[in-house]
Amino acid sequence: MKRKVFKHKFVEFIPEVIKEGILYISVPYATATHKCACGCGEIVVTPIKPADWKLTWDGETVTMYPSIGNWNFPCKSHYWIEESKIIWAREWSDSEIKKGRIKDRAIKNRYYGKFQK
Ligand SMILES: [Zn+2]
Repeated sequence: MKRKVFKHKFVEFIPEVIKEGILYISVPYATATHKCACGCGEIVVTPIKPADWKLTWDGETVTMYPSIGNWNFPCKSHYWIEESKIIWAREWSDSEIKKGRIKDRAIKNRYYGKFQK
C-alpha cells in the first residue's frame, strides 16, 4: 500500500533491519535510508551530498530534494518527501512519454541544426 507519511530517526549507523515508514538519517555518514514508500520492501539508500540529495530538517519534519525515483525497482515508484509527507508523482501515460520524446528530439534537432549552416 502506498504510504502517505514518514517518520524520521537520527541514527549514527543505519540499522540492519529497516522498518517500514521510517527514514533513517545518519549525519556522521551523510546518508539516509528507507524502505520504498510503495510497500514493495525494496531498500532505498540516498546519499546526502551536493550532487545527490539534500535533506532539510525543520525540527519536526524532514524534506528531501530532489524526488526519489526508484526506476531500478520493479515498482518504478516516484515520489517526493516533503515535510515528512509522501507526495506521489503522477504516472505518465504512454502518449505523454511519446510526446515528451518528440519534444526532446525537436529541441535537439533545433540545437544541432544551428551548427549545420
Ligand atoms: Zn516500491
